[in-house]
Amino acid sequence: MPDQRCDVVVIGGGIVGLSVAMHLSRAFPKLRLRLVEKEESVGQHQSGHNSGVIHSGIYYKPGSLKARLCVEGAAAMCAFCREYGLPYQICGKVIVATCEEEIPRLHSLLERGRANGLAGLKLLTREELREIEPHCGGIAWLFVPGTGITDYAKVCEKYAALITAQGGSVHTSTEVQGIVHRPRETVIETTRGSFSTRYIINCAGLHSDRVSRMAGTTPAVEIVPFRGEYYDLIPERRHLVHGLIYPVPDLRFPFLGVHFTRRIGGDVDAGPNAVLALKREGYRKTDFSLRDVSETFAYPGFWKMAAKYWRSGGAEFYRSIRKSAFVKALQKLMPELRNSDLVPNGSGVRAQALRPDGSLVDDFQFECTGNMLHVWNVPSPAATASLPIGREIVQMAQQGFGLERS
Ligand SMILES: Cc1cc2nc3c(=O)[nH]c(=O)nc-3n(C[C@H](O)[C@H](O)[C@H](O)COP(=O)(O)OP(=O)(O)OC[C@H]3O[C@@H](n4cnc5c(N)ncnc54)[C@H](O)[C@@H]3O)c2cc1C
Repeated sequence: MPDQRCDVVVIGGGIVGLSVAMHLSRAFPKLRLRLVEKEESVGQHQSGHNSGVIHSGIYYKPGSLKARLCVEGAAAMCAFCREYGLPYQICGKVIVATCEEEIPRLHSLLERGRANGLAGLKLLTREELREIEPHCGGIAWLFVPGTGITDYAKVCEKYAALITAQGGSVHTSTEVQGIVHRPRETVIETTRGSFSTRYIINCAGLHSDRVSRMAGTTPAVEIVPFRGEYYDLIPERRHLVHGLIYPVPDLRFPFLGVHFTRRIGGDVDAGPNAVLALKREGYRKTDFSLRDVSETFAYPGFWKMAAKYWRSGGAEFYRSIRKSAFVKALQKLMPELRNSDLVPNGSGVRAQALRPDGSLVDDFQFECTGNMLHVWNVPSPAATASLPIGREIVQMAQQGFGLERS
């Protein structure tokens, strides 16, 4: 590495780390800023394996960081895409109640969305639904007009280009393997040599707890990986979905249930489910890491979570191994869907933070300890909210580290 000293190092070239580094390099142009990413290019994990949805903010508890940063982030993401000529589209979303007992939950969502300041939310009549999503089933429908789609891999590339243009540097194929605190500096040991830094911002996604431990901090949470598997609608059946069609979620869980998503490139996918992954970056069902599994199973919070949610976890696992069960869940949203309409199409792995008491961390969570800021929980909608998340983390770093603008 050319210059062996820097002021701030951001670990992780996903959409969150990139946004943090982009905001830092803009606000503090004289800072020697370095972002390190272990893969050959940025956005290779969660940020490049997601649904591409610009979420509106309807699902999140009013007053939470998620609600505030998602609503703000959706508008900021659209403005960013417009400014830099990146593809995006506001296509709207229909949330579908498929049985009587989901109707009160649909109404609660409507109230939540209004409390979060969303405009244009509307319960649809069957006739109105036919205009928007003619092939959609169900018995009651909520239309969320502000939801959109984009390509977050392209957003990541643009954030990286802006960091470099603003004087920061992005080092790919550089894995952080050790963090050593010395009296006046901290040494970062990487696969491409060591360098020293004054401050560290840990945005390592699926490895953020490990990076904290590397630096001698006991994280408040353990990262548990949940794989989300997708199917693609075959081209002849893509006309079944115009925009986005989602079920009414169970708000006890951070996952939204399998749904239909039109992608910015025109294809339509179905999913993702949420199954425990046996490897943190394991995209195939057969992927297994003894270290990852041992750590998950050794964490007391995991067994408490398993005891609470074994029934829904089992159902997700069954849908993962039986395509017919996956299709059956989707047929509640679209009765004319056939098994042969879907072909497997990859997966993503979510970093879900789990507390020692077995509860899933719902809101975004960042914490400053000494000369390090840890980003421990940034699940969906963090891609949507990445711009304000980056700004908030930089403000936190400015206060926590005492950074000065000159
Ligand atoms: C299946 C799925 C669907 C989703 N759908 C949506 C959606 O539609 N809309 C939305 O807003 N959000 C969505 N999300 C959530 C969103 O993608 C994530 O919240 C967001 O990408 C998190 O970004 P990140 O930068 O924290 O993590 P990541 O993108 O995982 O980045 C972390 C980076 O850190 C690097 N790293 C780790 N350890 C080290 C180390 N030791 N040294 C150097 N580098 C390291 C990794 O290689 C990785 O690139 C989805 C997520 C998933 C998984």
